[in-house]
Amino acid sequence: RAKADGRGRFCIATPEMNDMFRLRHEIERDLRRAVAEGGQFQVLYQPIFDAEGGMVAAEALVRWTHPVRGVLGPESFIGIAEDTGLIEPIGLWVLDQACVLAATSGLPKISVNVSPIQLRRAGFAEEVLARLAAHRLPGHRLELEVTEKRALDTGSETLSNFDRLRAAGVSIALDDFATGQSLLRYVRDYQIDTIKIDRSFVARLGSGDGTDQIVRAILDLGRAMGIEVTAEGVENAAQREALLGMGCHVFQGFLLGRPMDALRLAALSARHRPSQKSA
Ligand code: C2E
Ligand code: MG
Ligand code: MG
Ligand code: MG
Repeated sequence: RAKADGRGRFCIATPEMNDMFRLRHEIERDLRRAVAEGGQFQVLYQPIFDAEGGMVAAEALVRWTHPVRGVLGPESFIGIAEDTGLIEPIGLWVLDQACVLAATSGLPKISVNVSPIQLRRAGFAEEVLARLAAHRLPGHRLELEVTEKRALDTGSETLSNFDRLRAAGVSIALDDFATGQSLLRYVRDYQIDTIKIDRSFVARLGSGDGTDQIVRAILDLGRAMGIEVTAEGVENAAQREALLGMGCHVFQGFLLGRPMDALRLAALSARHRPSQKSA
């Protein structure tokens, strides 16, 4: 079907596009309801290990159990949550859950993904710090992950949020590193504490296509700037060995542990306390 828009141009809406718009609209409506009513979201935690097998942190990953569609991963609703502003209540709820886990377990650090939409709002840092205080958690027990896939706002609110969080000891990780615009300016201007090498690079280690060289360069950059480097998506022992050989000491991936509920994560963490020097 093609409709003239009155100025001699045509807007073509295919049946597939109509389905897409309808689906999106439906998800948006259901997401509003889920946020208003509560009880449909869950946070899973994926462990992050050092080279000696100590659990140094865990990453909070949100899930949504849709009443009809079942369990949805973040890729199917975070974008809509960002467009509608619903990411703010969802993000704070995830942070709260993560703080409960950190406060009730001996887990050294909890890592929470935050959207650029949250970061650019004045007062975001204060909200985070208020949550930490409510759970009696010092700033160094929290890391916030910002993805490199999406443009970070370079406005002053984002910068001052970073400043206030960092002043309280909260660390900042640059997620999915080397997949976005790879703006090294971010690393400098936001005083990044941790770089997370995207799993697409880990998957192509040893393939002879230059991946190994890039990963080595990232590890060199980390060492030169005093930035921790975590490898994401480590799925097999060969990848872990290769990364260790390159000087990478922090790993996350299905080889070491899948995302799991808070109880299981706390129990696993109790069995894998990091040694003093790495804690
Ligand atoms: P991310 O922050 O890069 O998180 C890692 C993703 O990789 C997770 O997917 C995790 O389950 C998956 N993963 C971990 N290890 C492996 C592995 O060895 N192999 C493979 N194939 N995958 C692995 P998930 O949970 O679907 O999350 C997808 C993305 O959604 C996250 O990517 C993050 O950017 C975003 N996200 C998750 N939770 C939140 C949240 O609370 N707020 C915001 N703003 N974004 C979130
Ligand atoms: Mg992340
Ligand atoms: Mg990532
Ligand atoms: Mg640090």
